[in-house]
Amino acid sequence: MSEAGSEFEVVATPEKQHHDQSHIEALCAAKGMRMTEQRRTIARVLAAADDHPDVEELYRRCAKVDDRISISTVYRTVKLFEDAGIIERHDFREGRARYEQSPEAHHDHLINLRNGEVIEFQSEEIERLQAEVARKLGYKLVDHRLELYAVPLKDDKA
Ligand SMILES: [Zn+2]
Repeated sequence: MSEAGSEFEVVATPEKQHHDQSHIEALCAAKGMRMTEQRRTIARVLAAADDHPDVEELYRRCAKVDDRISISTVYRTVKLFEDAGIIERHDFREGRARYEQSPEAHHDHLINLRNGEVIEFQSEEIERLQAEVARKLGYKLVDHRLELYAVPLKDDKA
């Protein structure tokens, strides 16, 4: 999807490329993490998410699968996965952390301030510019986060 008249291409990635359901579990196993049944459930719910759920939303989804799971278990497990680099935590300025499985292909986020919708996008131009900025400052870019906070140009997208 490219805006008419824009100088460079921005690709919105509306559909997350799904890892299969057992992908997070495989990563946990590779890290030698002890996997309880509840951790597996949380891993599967995270792997199935095509959005950026917060802990409460994850808890709601997990509870549908296993009603013995407590929200504190979800909190602890999400922290564990995050510390292991298996999932990424985002702060989209809503006062609550949101999570997604660490993506294979890098993407950035645009947050619709009207409704909180999170749109993933990729722009080679932005990637190049960021590396260039770092280089001009005397650094080699190794990672970055980019969040665009935006309102729709047209009201019907609000
Ligand atoms: Zn994302």
